[in-house]
Amino acid sequence: MSDLMKDIQYVKGVGPKKAYKLNKLGIFTLKDLVFYFPRQYEDRNNLKKIAQLENEDKATIKAIVIGVTTYNPKKGMTLTKVDVKDETGFAKLVFFNQDYVKNTFKSGDTILVFGKVKKEFKNIEITSCEVEHLSNAPKNTCKIMPIYPLTFGVTNKELISMIKMVLSDENLKIKEYMPKRIIEKYKLCSIDYAIRNIHSPSSKESLKIALYRIVFEEFLILQLGLFMFKNGNTESKGIKFERHKILTDIINSLPFKLTGAQNRALNEIIEDMSSIKVMNRLVQGDVGSGKTVVALLSLANCVLNGYQGALMAPTEILAEQHYVSLTETLKGFDMNVELLVGSLTKKQKENVLEKVKNKEVDILIGTHALIEDKVEFSKLGLVITDEQHRFGVRQRSKLSEKGQNPDILVMTATPIPRTLALILYGDLDISIIDELPPGRQPIETIAVDKGKRDRAYNNLVRREVEKGRQVYIVCPLVEESEAIEAKAAVELVEELKLEFFSDLRVGLLHGKMKSKEKENIMKSFKNKEIDILVSTTVIEVGVNVPNATLMIIENAERFGLAQLHQLRGRVGRGIHKSYCILIYASKSDVCRQRMSIMEQTNDGFKISEKDLEIRGPGEFFGTRQHGLPELKVANIFKHMKILKIAQQEARYIIGEDHGLYSFENNLLKREIFDKFEYAVKEISLN
Ligand code: ADP
Ligand code: MG
Repeated sequence: MSDLMKDIQYVKGVGPKKAYKLNKLGIFTLKDLVFYFPRQYEDRNNLKKIAQLENEDKATIKAIVIGVTTYNPKKGMTLTKVDVKDETGFAKLVFFNQDYVKNTFKSGDTILVFGKVKKEFKNIEITSCEVEHLSNAPKNTCKIMPIYPLTFGVTNKELISMIKMVLSDENLKIKEYMPKRIIEKYKLCSIDYAIRNIHSPSSKESLKIALYRIVFEEFLILQLGLFMFKNGNTESKGIKFERHKILTDIINSLPFKLTGAQNRALNEIIEDMSSIKVMNRLVQGDVGSGKTVVALLSLANCVLNGYQGALMAPTEILAEQHYVSLTETLKGFDMNVELLVGSLTKKQKENVLEKVKNKEVDILIGTHALIEDKVEFSKLGLVITDEQHRFGVRQRSKLSEKGQNPDILVMTATPIPRTLALILYGDLDISIIDELPPGRQPIETIAVDKGKRDRAYNNLVRREVEKGRQVYIVCPLVEESEAIEAKAAVELVEELKLEFFSDLRVGLLHGKMKSKEKENIMKSFKNKEIDILVSTTVIEVGVNVPNATLMIIENAERFGLAQLHQLRGRVGRGIHKSYCILIYASKSDVCRQRMSIMEQTNDGFKISEKDLEIRGPGEFFGTRQHGLPELKVANIFKHMKILKIAQQEARYIIGEDHGLYSFENNLLKREIFDKFEYAVKEISLN
């Protein structure tokens, strides 16, 4: 049985039906099976006494059988209860429809039981039991149990026994593919040792050694693949801009002084623009950190060099806002800025397109409308995407294809930990704006239970409005449909007008409104003709009204933390102290925990880190989104240190042997190709 490429049906007891179910787990061959890793382990060495058991525990006890009873609570159903005891108390083992078990217990037997505890008052039941008879088989008392990810029709027990069967072959030795140099340098165990100990660890220590090897390997392969596959086209020749001297005049004409972080980011951008290489840069900055002006100055530098620039934003509101702020700031510098959005009339659009084509427009700002085929530039030199996470990779590249290797800048306010960014955007250079403009006060955030909703409305909203400030109220998120969300928003406005604010000016903004309507509402809000703006999440990105100082978010528990942070970023944009009230309607611990993170910090990086921790990186880092191979064991948070070491090594390898052509890297290269190819297949299937 030493050929691992054999079909899974080669395992004793696996027929076509079982094989089909295993296929669903991605297991086709024996190799797939032995590389199918546990998701976690249960330490069964840690015995508990019956009196120590708590409800919902998963625990192992050592007990003596007192008696067995079988019931038929319903037709076709059997229930077997086994009474057991130890010196601290009594418990019942419960088996559903497993008639045969009654014959496996005898009074007086000493058994080890692993299972799930249900405790009601003094009554203790243990379900999903796995039982070991100590009198028969006293050998297996020390155990670290692997727990595998499962699918319907394949049990953990089956996987354990199948894997055991394959690995029990004396002649089987899993072939090493990691270069010897790396194994020695990082003191890794062999892949054979790793695989055997990952499935049935002989001790905690050996499990640790095995996991280390796999974690290191997963990170190394991921990084090497990213370096190999993504570096391809950044080598092409781009435009060599200069830092134009008028740029300094524009900077001096701004109504404020750039922050240190803005200056740093701008210099990094201008340096990239001045090189012949195509710029590929990500600007990451928390909400309100002032990314727009950095984009504006980069665009201005591009125009001063005789090229056109484009700025794409995910919503019309945001595009419009950028348009206004760029036109304003660049007034007096002889630059032509135009707006291209879906709501323009046909005539207006044609007019803009004509001017863009004839280079009468220097900077074109817009939504997705920018990537339509009919948009043609005369001399496109710089392409900027704002809030890049709202666009797909393909949409971004479509815009840059409208020029000849234009420089590329993407901006995001969804902060992700730097290490994660380095992995996800392995091909991008990163600038971080980690400083807010001076004078900003942290937004005071308070999470309140739904019961206190009325009080929040009656006191806080009024107080802010009386001070001359304005308020956002964000309606609950409705995943399924924008239409339902819009309806909820309309109803909320009715309720507010009727019950709380009959004397105040309440406005409404939702995704189903026409762009013109939205625009008008935003304008009125900006001009202080509206006191309270009720909105769906369309308000999420970028909107800038410094006089708004209070945001109330209804059903805050439905939002992701990063999204709450984005929403909250709509206030605290001016000199006044701002507040955010999160109203939640859930009593769960996780909800409480999440709300308190929002209360404790205003730092978007910390928030997204916590969010990822709670949700797990799997979702964020899934193969589906990014076309990257799955990390089965490695965890970017838990194993940050190993990740850094693996990254360093990957960089070294690529530096020495970019295509991994050398003999010693050959087998590793095959692993990389296999893993990345599989991930790409997964993506195209979705
Ligand atoms: P974001 O990074 O969220 O896109 P914006 O670019 O919208 O942030 O900037 C938020 C606000 O901060 C704007 O009103 C902008 O004019 C202001 N701002 C930006 N840079 C500075 C600065 N250096 N000093 C003072 N205010 C600034
Ligand atoms: Mg912005």
